[in-house]
Amino acid sequence: MAEGNWRNRGKVLLGNEAIAWGLVEAGATVLTSYPGTPASEILATAQKIKEDEGLNIHAEWAINEKVAFEIALTNSWLGGRSAVMMKQVGLNVALDPLTSAAYTGVKGGFVIIAADDPGPYSSQTEQDSRFLAFFAKIPVFDPANPKEAKEMVKKAYELSERFQLPVMLRPTSWVCHARQGVELGDIKQWEREIHFQRDPTHWAAPPRLRFKLHGELNSKIREIASFNEITPVMVPKKAEIAILSSGVPFAQTYDVIRSLGLEDELAFYKIDMPFPLGSKIQKIAKSYSAILVLEETYPLIELQLISRERVKGRLNGTIPSEGELTAEILAHTILKLLGRKTPKTLPKPSEGSPPRLCPGCPHRAAFWAIKKALPKGIYPSDIGCYTLGINLGAVDTFLCMGASVAQAEGFYLSFKRAGMEIPSICATIGDSTFFHAGIPPLIDSVHQGACFILMILDNAVTAMTGGQATPASSSLVKEIKIEDVVKGCGVEFMRVVDPFDIPSTIAAIKEADHFSRLERRGVAVLISRYPCPLYFRKSLVKRKVIQITDRCTGCMRCVEKFECPALEKGKDDMPVILSTLCQGCGTCFYVCPKGAIEIMEK
Ligand code: SF4
Ligand code: SF4
Repeated sequence: MAEGNWRNRGKVLLGNEAIAWGLVEAGATVLTSYPGTPASEILATAQKIKEDEGLNIHAEWAINEKVAFEIALTNSWLGGRSAVMMKQVGLNVALDPLTSAAYTGVKGGFVIIAADDPGPYSSQTEQDSRFLAFFAKIPVFDPANPKEAKEMVKKAYELSERFQLPVMLRPTSWVCHARQGVELGDIKQWEREIHFQRDPTHWAAPPRLRFKLHGELNSKIREIASFNEITPVMVPKKAEIAILSSGVPFAQTYDVIRSLGLEDELAFYKIDMPFPLGSKIQKIAKSYSAILVLEETYPLIELQLISRERVKGRLNGTIPSEGELTAEILAHTILKLLGRKTPKTLPKPSEGSPPRLCPGCPHRAAFWAIKKALPKGIYPSDIGCYTLGINLGAVDTFLCMGASVAQAEGFYLSFKRAGMEIPSICATIGDSTFFHAGIPPLIDSVHQGACFILMILDNAVTAMTGGQATPASSSLVKEIKIEDVVKGCGVEFMRVVDPFDIPSTIAAIKEADHFSRLERRGVAVLISRYPCPLYFRKSLVKRKVIQITDRCTGCMRCVEKFECPALEKGKDDMPVILSTLCQGCGTCFYVCPKGAIEIMEK
C-alpha cells in the first residue's frame, strides 16, 4: 500500500480532484476518460496521484468515450474496480455499451462518471445524464458538493459490487469546479487477483438470454429502490408543502430557504440517489398537500413520483423547463408557491464578453485562408476551440463530435442528388476530434465518392479541455500519424500546410477545391499543422515583430473582423497591438486592406 504525507489531512480540492481521490482511495485500478469540460480534471488528477504515489494504475485518455467505457468495463468483468469519466455528451457516444453493460452486469465495481453542464456553459446540450442512467436502468448518485462527490464514489463502488451492476455518479459543473475542504483517506492499492471466468450467460449472452438478464436487472433495480433513502433536512410540523431536491439545486435551495427565513414553513428533503426511487420516498411525497421538486436539468425525480396531482416542478411549468436553477429562480418559485409577494423581474446574470480564439492561434490563420480561398463555400465544422471560427465567418455548422465530415458528405450528396451545382465545401475538424469520431465518416465519404475538402486542424493537443495529448502527439505511447490514417481511409489527395504561411495555405485550398469540386475526384484532405501557442509557447515566441504604420485609416477591420485579442481599439479610435499578448504570428499582416500592418525585421 502506498503511503504519503497527505494522509489523514484535510485539503481544499476542486470537485473533480475530490472525485479522483475518491476513485483512488476506493482501489480503482483502471481509469479511462475522454477529455471534455466539466469532467476533464478527474483523470488528469488521477494520473498525477498515480505518479506522485507510484501507484500501479492504468489511467488512460482513450480515443473516445465508447472505447474508454469498454476498456474500463472489461477490468470490472475480471473482478477489478474501474471507472470511466466523461462529459454528458460523451455519454451519448458510450450509450451502446452502457445499456448493454446494465444487462450483463459486472464483477468488480464499475463507476461511470458523467459530468453535466446545466446552463450550458461549454456544451452543445444541457442534457441530464441521470436520464440515461434511468434509460439504462442503473442507479445514479447526484452530489451537491465536492465532499459529497468523493463520498458517493465509495458508496457507488459498494452498491456496484453488491448488485453486480454499473453505477453512475452525476456531478454538474458547479460540483466539478467548486472548491471545498475534503478529508483524504488511505489509498487502497488493492492487488485484487483478476481472473477471467468464462460465463457466456452474461458476457456473451445471446438475445434470448438477454430477456432473462433484463428480468434480473429489473429485480436488482426494485431491490435498490426498496432501500433508497430520503434525508429529512427541515421538517416543521405545520408544513403543508415539501421540497424534494438533489444535487446542486439542493445546496442552493438550502441557502435560499434560510436566507428567506422560511425554515418553519417548508419541509425540505434531500435525495442522494434520484434513480431508482422507492416506496419510502413515495410515502413522504404523499404526506404533503404539495410537493415542489427542484433538480437539474430534467424532471427525473418528478417523473417517478406517483402522486402526480400534488407534484410541481418543470413538468407543470412551476419552474422553467430549461436552464440552471439559480438562487433567483428558486427564491421566486418558493415565494410564489407560498403565496408571497415576489420581485417583478429576476436579475439577469451578466453575459460576459464573447469567447475568441487566442492571440497567435493557428486556427485563426487557417480560417482566414479558407474564407479567402473559397469565399462562397459552405463550412461545416466540429467540436473544439475552432467552433470560434464562426466569429470569422468560416464555420456554418457544428452538431456533435465528428459531424463535420459526415455533414460535408451530406451537403455534397444532397446537392448532387438534386442535380444542382455543387458549391465548394470545406469542413474543419481538430486533430483529437478527428481521431474521436472523424475517421468512420471519412471512410464513408471516400467509399460513397463524396467530393469536398476536409481540413484537419492539427495543433498537437486537445486544447479546449486542458491540453491532453492526442494519439498523434503523445510521446508516452506509440504515436499514430494522421497522414497514415488519412491514407488508410483511401484518400488520394493530401497536403500538409503551415497555416501561418497564408499564401501557400490559400493555394493548397484552391488546389484541393479543384481536385474535389471541379474534377470530382473525391475527398481532398489538408492537414493544417501548427502547435497550439497556449501549450507549446516556444514554438511561436515572437516569430515576427508587427507594427501599425501611418497608412492606417482606422477602419477597424483588423480589430472587428479578425478578432485577435492582441489587437484593440486604442486612443483616438485607432488600432493598437498589445505587445504583451501579441505572439508575433504575423497573420494580421494579411488582413489590413491598406497594407498598414507591417512585419519588421527582428
Ligand atoms: S485594418 Fe488596417 S487600416 Fe483598418 S484599422 Fe486595422 S490597421 Fe488600420
Ligand atoms: S501578429 Fe497580429 S495576429 Fe498574430 S498575435 Fe500579434 S496581433 Fe495577433
